[in-house]
Amino acid sequence: MTQKMLSEAEGYEILRKYDIPVPKFQIVKNGEDAAAAAEKMGCPVVMKIISPQIVHKSDAGGVIVGIGGKKAALSAFTKIIDGAKAYNPNAEIDGVIVEQQAEPGLELIIGGRTDPAFGKVITFGIGGTLVELMKDVTLRILPVSEEEIRQMVKEINSYPLIAGYRGAKPKDEETLVKIIGNISRFFQENTHIVEFDVNPLRLYEKGACAVDARVIVSDTVAEVKPKERIPVPIEYFTPRSIAVIGASQDSSKMGYAIMHNLLHFPGQLYPVNNKRSEIQGLKAYSNITSIPAPVDLAVITVPAIHVPAVVEECGQKKVPMVVIITAGFKEMGEQGRALEERIVAIARGHGTRIIGPNCLGLIVPPRGIDTTYVHQSPKSGNIAFLSQSGAIINTVVDWSLAKNIGFSNVISVGNQADLDFLDYLRYVQKDDKTKAIILYIEQITDGKTFMEVVSEVAKVKPVIAIKSGSSRRGQAAASSHTGSLSGSYEVYMEAFRKSGVVSVHTLTGAFLAAQMLAHPKRYPKGKRAVVITNAGGFAVLSSDYAERYGIELVDLPQEVIEELNEFLPDFWNKGNPIDLLGDASEKRFEKTFAVLARHEELWDMAFIIGFPNLVLSSEHLAKQILHFSGMTSNRLIATLLGGDSMNVGREMLKENSIPSFEELDFTFRVMGRVLWQKFRVKAPGLL
Ligand code: ADP
Ligand code: MG
Repeated sequence: MTQKMLSEAEGYEILRKYDIPVPKFQIVKNGEDAAAAAEKMGCPVVMKIISPQIVHKSDAGGVIVGIGGKKAALSAFTKIIDGAKAYNPNAEIDGVIVEQQAEPGLELIIGGRTDPAFGKVITFGIGGTLVELMKDVTLRILPVSEEEIRQMVKEINSYPLIAGYRGAKPKDEETLVKIIGNISRFFQENTHIVEFDVNPLRLYEKGACAVDARVIVSDTVAEVKPKERIPVPIEYFTPRSIAVIGASQDSSKMGYAIMHNLLHFPGQLYPVNNKRSEIQGLKAYSNITSIPAPVDLAVITVPAIHVPAVVEECGQKKVPMVVIITAGFKEMGEQGRALEERIVAIARGHGTRIIGPNCLGLIVPPRGIDTTYVHQSPKSGNIAFLSQSGAIINTVVDWSLAKNIGFSNVISVGNQADLDFLDYLRYVQKDDKTKAIILYIEQITDGKTFMEVVSEVAKVKPVIAIKSGSSRRGQAAASSHTGSLSGSYEVYMEAFRKSGVVSVHTLTGAFLAAQMLAHPKRYPKGKRAVVITNAGGFAVLSSDYAERYGIELVDLPQEVIEELNEFLPDFWNKGNPIDLLGDASEKRFEKTFAVLARHEELWDMAFIIGFPNLVLSSEHLAKQILHFSGMTSNRLIATLLGGDSMNVGREMLKENSIPSFEELDFTFRVMGRVLWQKFRVKAPGLL
């Protein structure tokens, strides 16, 4: 693959074809021609070096602005050529471009690059020489709609500079939207263009002008080919009989731990071991083919070199799916990769599907399935957790026990030699027990197909993702300005958002978001909230948090205030947050909730905040919250603050999928994150 940078003039030509205004220009090879061109064009003019080796012309002293006449043009020519030679003695110099000097305007950048996983991406933000410093850019994966372009423009922090800031007249946003649209089309239609940036595009009160264009073309277009997919029947994940190949009696072996965790499996369990006739109290078989009944799932823990033979036997036995726990494949280099390809071919020959290799396998607590060697199997629940890291599974499962969090499925995807994230997503989409899905992702190869599938899944069930390995350093080194700004981590974030996936940064955040979204009402219909509390201090804090995380506290209309006046003490705050005061009884909450339910069109979600006190137990408060929940189609979010004294109420809410966080900041932060996914308000706090 060879890449080459087009000259600025070639870049301008393409932009012009897409209706993007560029200055008049002329290429010259000597000072006299430069002077003549300047005169013909009308001064002032700008002169710049043309060299494929000089990417950033200013750095090489290759840009001179404000050239006022023939004489100045003549000396500018010499200065530019000498400067370029001094900067890079090996640079080929193709001449100098003389161009009309554009009026000063707001300098913006529009760039594009090709992401290895998600394809073409465009970036937009504040440009000029401050791009890296400001880092005020946003991006979209192509194709992009006009509506999304509008959103993109409004989303940068410096948007007020476009809309008109402190008396400055607004800039021509319409033209900008059109230009970004045309540039997106230009990038998409010209498949050989792999990267570009227009920096700066000068935006005026009326119109705009692109005064630099760097376009990189490649002779080959690398595209990820979607892999051939054979759907996996859901029954494969509900085996009635499981064989463990490499089952062991030795407690220091993995084959022991796996057997141990499977002893709870209510179906048939067959240890396979060629040296022993009994393992952990069960009859053992010397190989899988000697088991006298069908086997629905085989868990393989034998050393890597034996795996091909074992998979062959499983194929002969017509085992529909195997979990290969063994490591030592693709992750170990070329030899391992070849071995992995071999087992995939063997399995395919028999129609046997593979989970792994190099994984922990599968935990399905509602069915007593656990092929992993986690210390203790997790509880049953409604969260499906799909992870590219085994260690994270061990950690999360261990932690979930103390937190009383349960799972419908935990799947360690391993090397994804056959089944991959997309197959598992399809499965948990259909799985009745699963109400929310958490993904831990290190890397996705076919980003486009991932987006297609996950978008469909996210329509049915909430999907939350943590992406690790933001490879900014690598990206920055490999590509130029725009590349580093839209490093692939940001592209993942955008891919998630576009597909309806809530992205988070921490495991705790992932589980909080899952709890928030596992509720049948999932998302609030909008961003408008009311807060009801008996805790004055927290009423103030909740206003702060709401503002910080993009949640809009609505003003209560007079009518509602008057209805509340009828039963609230005279000195209640008459506003939102609604402070029912420390002595608030269950009745006071009940009546307030009834008023709010009657006016449910005024708000989209209600935050209810309780604290430990002797007037109102957590149990009674929870009872009223549940009652309220039944009276409104809006979302309720509870926060029962305090220690264990509030546990009764928390449990009651949890049973009804109403999340009850213990820290108020988290309540709002989680909702902010969720709303960001849905409504793309200003970037919320990290979670
Ligand atoms: P670089 O390769 O360093 O990015 P540019 O072509 O962007 O070089 O020029 C550097 C700066 O000079 C631009 O950011 C812009 O402010 C100014 N400039 C360049 N061309 C013009 C022009 N035709 N009219 C007005 N200003 C220009
Ligand atoms: Mg530039």
